[in-house]
Amino acid sequence: PIYLDYCATTPVDKRVADKMMSFLTIEGTFGNPASRSHFFGWQAEEAVDIARNQIASLLGADAREIIFTSGATESNNLAIKGTAHFYKKKGKHIVTCQTEHKSVLDSCAQLEREGFSVTYLSPKSNGLIDLEKFESALKKNTILVSVMHVNNETGVIQNIAHIGRICREKGIFFHVDAAQSAGKLPINLSQLSVDFMSISAHKMYGPMGIGALFVRRKPAVHLEPLQHGGGHERGLRSGTLPVHQIVGMGEACRIAEAEMSAQSDKMNILGDQLWYGLQHLDHIYLNGDLKNKVPHIFNISFGGINGEALILSLKDLAVSSGSACISSTVTSSYVLRALEVSDELAQSTIRFSFGRFTTQKEIEYAIELIPQYVLGLRKVLSQ
Ligand code: PMP
Repeated sequence: PIYLDYCATTPVDKRVADKMMSFLTIEGTFGNPASRSHFFGWQAEEAVDIARNQIASLLGADAREIIFTSGATESNNLAIKGTAHFYKKKGKHIVTCQTEHKSVLDSCAQLEREGFSVTYLSPKSNGLIDLEKFESALKKNTILVSVMHVNNETGVIQNIAHIGRICREKGIFFHVDAAQSAGKLPINLSQLSVDFMSISAHKMYGPMGIGALFVRRKPAVHLEPLQHGGGHERGLRSGTLPVHQIVGMGEACRIAEAEMSAQSDKMNILGDQLWYGLQHLDHIYLNGDLKNKVPHIFNISFGGINGEALILSLKDLAVSSGSACISSTVTSSYVLRALEVSDELAQSTIRFSFGRFTTQKEIEYAIELIPQYVLGLRKVLSQ
């Protein structure tokens, strides 16, 4: 099968895997970066420093602003619950959007159980946040805004520069989930009014199980840690640093930065090939906004067919559906529901996402296969 599910996870780049291997065994470099009294600790600490700088460089941040976590889920939890807990005396209101990742929505839901109040903005039908509506949702007791950069289902890019400026003017902290954008879109935190940013290595050709949270130093922001222990990572995230994972994430960031512009050109070409290659089909709809999205994610509804049948017939393409099977009942994606896509259409939706190792040949195969099945299924239904 052809892998068109890069949003779910990316394969690890061979260069990253090789680098990681050299930080595991006795033949290579190993040690606990917290061992301050001997060579093995120093070499591990140096490797972590280099990686921290590579990650900071990709984001236009200072290395001291990077806190290692287990991934974007943990980073989102730490940013949201950590800020709320630290600043609860300042206010107890949070603003986010209905189309955020579950790790943001569920962190907010937990805070609601603890007595915080949360506004979940409904996006416009193209997935973008209405900036006027956003501004009017802010209250005197709002302490935190959490908005993702690129949506994982539609690829829509939110205007985080604008949202950040408003938050900064009003003295509200701003968290951005950049799991799907880091390494793909240019990000310069020295120019953005963003206080916290979550990223994940396995979305950018690095290993699973490692991520980071950017925590701004100037102006400084504080967090209540979720995890207590040896005081690693400025006391914000205790636990022995997984050196091989960190080195892998650093290398993934270095490659992403060096190759970003070439990759971006390639994604544009593949994206056009896919989208225009399907245009001869009628009743197909793009969910999101063609002009305001990343080129490597397409969320497409195919009208007039049974979604489940389409997914089953497309077994040669590893794609994601616009619905989730929860204990045998099919429910449509909450992101598509927020975009007011009908349940029927949402259930005949496919998310295509591609990346570094996708070829034009693979997209060619996809645009050959999809119409065959869509037309076939429509024919069956009309009989
Ligand atoms: N946020 C977004 C936007 C994501 O796409 C994902 C991964 N599906 C996450 C957060 C969670 O990342 P991780 O797998 O690193 O916990």
